[in-house]
Parts: sequence; structure tokens; C-alpha cells
Amino acid sequence: MAFTAITSVSALAEITPGVPISREAAIRLIRCPDDGLPELLAAARAAKERFKPGVITYSRKVFLPLTNLCRDYCGYCTFRRDPGDPGAHTMTPDEVLAVARAGEKLGCTEALFSLGDKPELLFPEMRETLRHLGYRSTLHYLEAMCELVLRETTLLPHPNPGLLSAEWIARLAAVSPSMGLMLETTNADLLGKGKAHDNAPDKVPAKRLRTIEEAGKQRVPFTTGLLIGIGESPEDRVDTLLAIRDLHDRYGHIQEVIVQNFRVKPSIPMAGWPEPSHGEMLRAVAVARLLLPKVNIQAPPNLSAPYYDDLVDAGINDWGGISPLTPDYINPEKPWPHLDQLRLRTGAKGFSLQQRLPVYPEFLPALVARPGLLSEKLRAAADGCGLARTTRAA
Ligand code: SF4
Repeated sequence: MAFTAITSVSALAEITPGVPISREAAIRLIRCPDDGLPELLAAARAAKERFKPGVITYSRKVFLPLTNLCRDYCGYCTFRRDPGDPGAHTMTPDEVLAVARAGEKLGCTEALFSLGDKPELLFPEMRETLRHLGYRSTLHYLEAMCELVLRETTLLPHPNPGLLSAEWIARLAAVSPSMGLMLETTNADLLGKGKAHDNAPDKVPAKRLRTIEEAGKQRVPFTTGLLIGIGESPEDRVDTLLAIRDLHDRYGHIQEVIVQNFRVKPSIPMAGWPEPSHGEMLRAVAVARLLLPKVNIQAPPNLSAPYYDDLVDAGINDWGGISPLTPDYINPEKPWPHLDQLRLRTGAKGFSLQQRLPVYPEFLPALVARPGLLSEKLRAAADGCGLARTTRAA
């Protein structure tokens, strides 16, 4: 079916404020032609304003690449290493604490732990590293490092460790207010030979959905999202958003959905792959907003530079984690914008930039109601609106 501006405008006419659009409308809109794009963006921006008016948030964070060893080989990844590769590294507890303390001095409130998925299952070198550190697995080590940062600093951990069992979700939830796992896509064909998820056993969509669902059963505020441009179709993008929406409808735990665009790098297996266009990214963000009108939608500004402020027009309400200290280890060639720049450009779009915690304000009351160290730290970190208590200008 050819999509014209008229068919996409008729999809917009079906929008009821605050009510998610249908799959059929989403598919028409994500394929809208260029002359239908301004109306799509206007509808998405209006939906964002009904949800969280006047404000765009970000999380001031430090990035802690606990280990870049990983048993998966995603075709777009620059982060992962095998043991012995240049730059292969597992952080020591002293390194973790040094970075967290440096971030604390710069007003950071999030310690984002990013790491490869279960490297010890593939690499004896990682088993030896963990034995030397005194831990049985990477997840045991991660749990201890989250607890260390929580206890010793004012930062709040947000771990992204890959697939998790019910037991590990519960254990990590005791030492971090929120956690994340990108769903990326529901298209299992991308696990095929030569595709983005070839030789990436942890990227089976059904397994990732199970982790996100288990987090929902345990009421853990959860960050997830989709990757744009790794071989999926526009319909796949809609179906991935619908799978997230379905879990959120059942459990109410999806605190944010990240819409992340693939960026090509010379060193990756997908080095010859085309990047998604800026227009594709804007359509995906806008459709995410209309499918999930009451969920926080985030897009990373560094991956859409220099035109990242267009993402505000597509309905995001959050820029994600921005670090004044550590590079984006996942996309090291794409530095985060300076926070002053981000504030200026967000302001030029008519919004104030405000610093949030890794957990969003609407999820905070349930967490602070539970006694313990996590609750105490959250109370100390949050202001009266549930955002970051800080006197530092954004
Ligand atoms: S994207 Fe994540 S799971 Fe895939 S190879 Fe990189 S670190 Fe491993």
C-alpha cells in the first residue's frame, strides 16, 4: 500500500487526546511521506505537552563500564571486547568508586552500570578475574558494586546487565531504584546469519520480553527501548513499541522508552550498513509518543547531532543520561553535548531543562515507602517534585 499525506493525515484525525493510537494508525504514520511529517510532529509534540508540559528532563550521570567483555557479538557494537583485545577491561572496585566520587563532585545523581552479558560463560579469563575479585559471577560483582556506590556516595545505581532471572531482578532491585534492558526489536529474523543479532544469544526477543515482564511482576521501574536501523522494518518498530506497551499496560512499570538510532562506525561488522535517516528517526519518535502518550520517551542527543533539538518537536520529554565526566562508551565517537548547550537549545524550543534521578518522579513514592538504605538515599537525592535535589544550574 502506498502511503500518502492524505492517508497519514486521516490517521492523525483518529487521535483522541491521551488515548494511544492503534497499530494500523501507527503503521500509516511511521510510513508517512515528507509532506505529512509536520502534522505528525505537531500531533506528537501536543501529546508530549499533555503528558509533561513545559519541561524536558535529563539525568546527570557517570558511565561505569564495569566490564566490556561480552559473550554476544552484536553487529553494531563498538563496546564489547574479547579478552586480550586492546581496551578489554573489567573495572576494579577502586576504579568504580573513584569515578562515582568524581561524578558526585560534579553534581551527578546516576551511576549507570553498563556491561557485557555473562562474559564468564564464554571466557575463562573472566572467570579468573571474578575469582581474583572474590565473586562467583559478573552479576554477583555488579550487585556488590551497586551496593558500594549506594553506600559510599550520593549516586543512585542504574544497572544495564542484560538478561536477568527473577532472582537477579530482586537482588539488583534491592541496591538500585531502577534498571534497564533494551528490547531493541521483536524481529527474531535479525538473529540470522550475517544479521545484526547473529551470534548474540542474549538478543532473542522472547527472552528479553521475559526479563522485562519479570521486572513488571516485581514492580521494578524499568527502562527499555528500541534500536532504529539495524535491519528491522518500520512495521517492526511499531510492533516493538506495541510489545512494550502491552507489558506496561499489564504491569505499569515501564518508566521510559528509549528510541535509539544506529550509527555506523568503521570498526563494526555492520560498517557498510546505511544509517537511518533523520526523518526515519523523527517518525519513530513521534509514533512512539502517540502509541505511548503517558510514558516517558527519550532519545539520546549525541546520536542526532547537530540536529538533535528536532527530537523535541517529535515528542520526547527526556534526553537520557548526560555525563559531564565520562564519555559515551557505547558511542565513543559521538560526544554528549555540553550541558550548557543542551539547556540553551532546549530553552530555544520553549522548554526548561531539569535534572531528574535515574528513577522518574512518578515511580519514586513506592520506592521511598520501603524502609532501608535505598529509600534513605532516594529521600536525600529527590526534591519535592521527585526530581534531583540540586542547586547546580542545569
Ligand atoms: S550490544 Fe551489548 S550484548 Fe551486544 S555485543 Fe555489545 S555489549 Fe554485548
